[in-house]
Amino acid sequence: MEVVFNQGVYLPELDLWLDSRRKQESGLISHAHSDHTARHRSPVVTPGTRLLLTGYLTSRSSPITLEYHEPLETERYTLTLHPAGHCLGSAQALVQSKTTGERLLYTGDFKVRPSPVNEPLEPVPCDVLVMEATYGKPEYVFPDEAQVLGTAFRTLASWLSRGEKPVVLGWRLGKAQEVLHHLLAQGFEVAVEDSVCRIAERYQEAGVQFPGSFLPWDGQWKEGQVLIAPPGAKTSQMLGKARGLRFMELTGWAISGRRPWGRRGDADLPFSDHADFNELVDYVRQVNPKQVYTVNGFPELAAHLRGLSYPAVHLDGKGRAEEVGTQLRLV
Ligand SMILES: [Zn+2]
Repeated sequence: MEVVFNQGVYLPELDLWLDSRRKQESGLISHAHSDHTARHRSPVVTPGTRLLLTGYLTSRSSPITLEYHEPLETERYTLTLHPAGHCLGSAQALVQSKTTGERLLYTGDFKVRPSPVNEPLEPVPCDVLVMEATYGKPEYVFPDEAQVLGTAFRTLASWLSRGEKPVVLGWRLGKAQEVLHHLLAQGFEVAVEDSVCRIAERYQEAGVQFPGSFLPWDGQWKEGQVLIAPPGAKTSQMLGKARGLRFMELTGWAISGRRPWGRRGDADLPFSDHADFNELVDYVRQVNPKQVYTVNGFPELAAHLRGLSYPAVHLDGKGRAEEVGTQLRLV
């Protein structure tokens, strides 16, 4: 099956767009991160993604909401969505051609490690695999997540014991809610930046339960409190020059010290909502495709897969030579 990558994945034989960055009549939005979305007229989304995109999709948009495993039949193909483990509502798409019977799996962004706030990833056998390669370089192998979290908890506790003001930086959608759940489960008192709070409330609407309460940050530091906020200039502005601030950044990029944004934290820990290199390779083994296309990230993954005898090609759209594969900055 022909696969084109041009600001999104396009399947010409089926006339189907997957995560187009440009507005289309229809097409899949695999999840609500801004590097996978556009204001399509009639996008296919999961109920979770639809909830998160409320206010983003205009009133002229009429989304088709598909539960996981619920088939969408068209003249040319059957489409089903399967959990991707990446954030609320995140989905892989299995597309089966009605002409050839060929099954193409598009992963979108996915996370293999279990998360207390995400539906677990479901491996889906296929003939053609189109997968993300965000961390598709052998240097990106993340340590055991429980160990990383243990280090995070100890570091935060020691900052608090010295009267310092801990700020945990993580993407507003997905990472922040996952971290929120972990910190509450450990008994930390947590305040959350406004946008993180609004998204956490959508998680609750979708049925996710957090093991404790959280409030939007009101600008006042309370003793013993940890703040969760997105990385970036807005957070720096919001915090001003408060004394004793300590930043912890949770990101897969911490493995290499490579960071496409802003300042580094006082503690940088490798915690990601994506698969690491070994998990990407394992996933290919599990779903056992005859052909692999990698998108969004490093070409080294496809080269490695060819070494393992999988026909694999990295698809690189125009103008992406400098691409480092970070979410929210793609294309
Ligand atoms: Zn994403």
